[in-house]
Order: sequence, then C-alpha cells, then structure tokens
Amino acid sequence: MFFDLLIQGGHVIDPATGRNGRFDVAIRRDRIAAVEPHIPAESAAHVINAAGQYVTPGLVDLHTHVYYGSTFWGIQPDPVAARSGVTTWLDVGSAGAYNLIGMRDHIVRPSHARIYALLNISSIGLTGPTYELANIAYSDVDVCVKLANLNRDFVLGVKVRIDNNTVGANGIEPLRRARVAADRLRLPLMVHVGIGPPAISEVLPFVRPGDILTHCFTGHSMKLIDDNGRLLESAARAWDSGVIMDIGHGAGSFSFLTAEAMLAAGRKPDVISSDIHQLSVNGPLFDMPTCLSKFMALGMSLEDVIYAATVAPAQAMGLGDEIGTLLPGAFADVALFTLAEGRFSLYDVFMNERVGKHLLRNTLTIARGRAMPHTPDGSTAPWIELSENQRTLIDRGHTPDLLAR
Ligand SMILES: [Zn+2]
Repeated sequence: MFFDLLIQGGHVIDPATGRNGRFDVAIRRDRIAAVEPHIPAESAAHVINAAGQYVTPGLVDLHTHVYYGSTFWGIQPDPVAARSGVTTWLDVGSAGAYNLIGMRDHIVRPSHARIYALLNISSIGLTGPTYELANIAYSDVDVCVKLANLNRDFVLGVKVRIDNNTVGANGIEPLRRARVAADRLRLPLMVHVGIGPPAISEVLPFVRPGDILTHCFTGHSMKLIDDNGRLLESAARAWDSGVIMDIGHGAGSFSFLTAEAMLAAGRKPDVISSDIHQLSVNGPLFDMPTCLSKFMALGMSLEDVIYAATVAPAQAMGLGDEIGTLLPGAFADVALFTLAEGRFSLYDVFMNERVGKHLLRNTLTIARGRAMPHTPDGSTAPWIELSENQRTLIDRGHTPDLLAR
C-alpha cells in the first residue's frame, strides 16, 4: 500500500493498543493506515522524521470553551490546537439552545480540529461570564432536549455549572432539570462544581455512571476531600460506581494540595482536561501539554497522562473507536512531542508552585491527516495573543471574582 504521510522513527505511546516503543505510523487520507516497527520511506508521499520525539494519538480535551466571539469564555481552537497537540475539543456548555446553531455553523464546521459540544441546560449558554442559571426560565428542559436531538452529530451530552454565582437563588433546581434532560436524551451529563452553596453533598446524588464530574481536584468549598485531605465517602462511592472524574484545570479549579491528597490515596483522575478559556490560556493553565506536565510532577508517568488525555476522554465521549488511538482505521489525528528535562516551575490556580523535572512540548499536530500550521512566526510559545476585543471584555475590573470558574 502507498501512504500519504509517514511518521518515521519516533517513540510511539498509544495506550489504547498498549504500544510504547519505536514504531512508524502511516496515514492514508484521513485514517491511520499502519503502525509497524519499520515502514520504508519509499512507501509514502511525505515523510516526517520523528527521531527523538514522542508520537501519540492527537489529544482529546474533554473540557474546553471554543465558541469565541459569541460567548464570554471562548478562544479560537485551531491556533491552540496547532501548538498543543489537541485534535479533538469538547466544548462544554458554551452553547445553549438559543445559540447552538451559531456554534455549529461558525465553529464546528470551519475548524480544522474536531469540535464536539455538550449543550448547556441554560438556553443562553455561557454568553455572559456567570449567572446563566439565575433565571430559572432559561433552564428549559424541552428546548434543550429538542435542540440536542436535532444536532446529535456533534452534541454529545448536557452541561450544567453548579456554583454560587451561576445558580443565583435557584439552588440545585437547574441540576435537577439537567438530569431530566440528559435522561430524556440518554446522553451523559457533565456537572461543574466550584464554590458552594449548594454543597457537594447535594450534587453527588444526581450523577450516574458514565456522567462526568468536572473540576474534581478543585480546592474550593465543593471539593471532594474533607479538611483532613480524605476523599469523601459519597465521592468515593460515585467514583467507584463509574462516574468519570475530570480535572478541568481552568483559572480556578486545580489545586496541588487536593491533587496530592487524591494521589496519595491512590486516586488518579480519570480524565485530565484543560478547561481552556480566555482567562486560563495565558496561565496558570496555559495548555494541555503544560497541564499534563503538572501531573508528571505529581508522580504520574508519561503513559498515564497520555492515557488520561486520549483513551479515557474518547471513551467518555463514546468515540473510543475513532479518536484517542493510533489503531489502523481510526481518524488520522496524531501529536508529536518532545519531553524536556530540567527544573520547571509549575503553578496551580492559587499560584502554589511545584518544580517538575519534565516539560512536555508539542512540536507538530496532525488532524484529519493534515499537519496544522504553527503560529505565523513558527514559535510554539505557550500563550496566545488575545484580540483587542477579548482584552476589552476581560479588563473591565470584574476579572478577580471570575477566577473561581
Ligand atoms: Zn469550563
């Protein structure tokens, strides 16, 4: 067979197939065609020399905000995809029923990276920074279910943010409604937790196996550990029953202290996701490779963090056969990385520092069988220029109280 693209000489880490070693990866059109110890250069139209680099499935980011220009948190996905290795982005709740069509036409369709969405139970989605659930009339189960059903090609579930400055006086009523919508759709529910009230004990009874609890290593009052750092029994029960525990680092939702308590108790996160948005993209999150490096600093192996950013989120999305794997027949989404060694300062959202010995850096991102162009100057700097429009929105003086998101 003649291939379109051959990635030669790299160290493949593909947790879905158990491969961890030197392999060549061949692509034909938009699919992985072969992964073998040696595939000759003459068998492909283009060859990429990956010697000295890691080759992984394109990363799958289970918690992102990419509905830029129409919702408060959104960033443009493709420029970040091109220098972070993320080839599949699940936008979680930026769109509600009223603005889902704009997301499909203006974000999902034109993007090079793959974009999927969870539909916010609030019909206005994340048009504004907060309080999307404060007017309970916007938590309209019928319209949420109807719009999701009309767009099941990219809507994979329902999102609700339960937090003191999202729900207003409505307590857990929006969560109850989100539960009903997800059940009617027979799709997963993702629940955000942050600063209560409501309390975490009011939220956990609503999550079921296959649902996603995001911000699971938060340091805020809805955290899953008690004040002595012990995992709450109710949280352990939910976790062991099959609720998917997802990081969602963001600007307010990742604490080294919580993470260290969890890992000491043998609790690795199921999924490592970024919660990348316009208040986290320039730090302390930066991007997925930086986020994965933080978990390596906490003691997880490279294979562990790649698993939590490929296989695990792909399965949570119900797309495990197509993305997050280099199995022949899967989509040709591939990421190349170097692993720098040294001493690297890494920060959680409280600006607590840990020093890591490794820093994962993306060198090339291939999505749909095509390499994505890097930034115009060719750099891979872990930041993006926010547009003047974006800066105007986030410089209005209310940024500090948004950092709990
Ligand atoms: Zn988020």
